Amino acid sequence: MLDGKSNFSHKLLLTDEDIGDDHIMTSLETPLRPDAFELSDEEKMQKIAHHFREIMLTMGLDLTDDSLRGTPKRVAKMYVQEIFSGLNPKNKPKVALFENKYGYSEMLVEKDITFYSNCEHHFVPIIGKAHIAYISNGSVIGLSKLNRIVQYFAKRPQVQERLTMQIAQELCSTLGTDDVAIVIDAHHLCVSSRGVQDVNSSTITAYYGGQFMKEGRKNEFLQYLSLPPSAQVSEVLQSKK
Ligand SMILES: [Zn+2]
Repeated sequence: MLDGKSNFSHKLLLTDEDIGDDHIMTSLETPLRPDAFELSDEEKMQKIAHHFREIMLTMGLDLTDDSLRGTPKRVAKMYVQEIFSGLNPKNKPKVALFENKYGYSEMLVEKDITFYSNCEHHFVPIIGKAHIAYISNGSVIGLSKLNRIVQYFAKRPQVQERLTMQIAQELCSTLGTDDVAIVIDAHHLCVSSRGVQDVNSSTITAYYGGQFMKEGRKNEFLQYLSLPPSAQVSEVLQSKK
């Protein structure tokens, strides 16, 4: 189904049961309610703690046990302040651009950006690496900001396809260029720790925009990703531990 119309009707025919364990993406935007940010973080944590406590009680856990007593609050704090903090636009990294004074006109590749996300269908971790490339159109971005942009979008309930596209969209708009490429390679714990229990598979998604749609650029990027880590750098890092 290539046209939007048939895609839409296809979507209407799917029930939750049909979707099951399949990871189906419905839109580029994370589906948020219009009132998503009416509650303060503090109010959200109180509410989540209350409901998580109910879940634990329903499962028959004894919340008077010392080990479990603090869990609802810990989970609530972790959800709001850590693993789902990327839902809130106020946590979006502030990105400063610099003038490309060096006249560097080749691609810049930042590879092996480790991230932790969570599958929005099961709320269990997705652990992966993102590899990013861009070609400057006059502006350059601080390297750590590439990591921060990946982390921001990872800290949401996600599907890998949307994560890839959200990072791509953000980089294109921030850098003012279509010349952006991303490869994400991730393990989904909903596939390994439950369900089909496949511990070996990983999922790869990619985005190639602008110049990266040309075979030459795309292949150059992919070749950099397959380079072994520099032995000398690894030695220096090891000796610092
Ligand atoms: Zn899942």
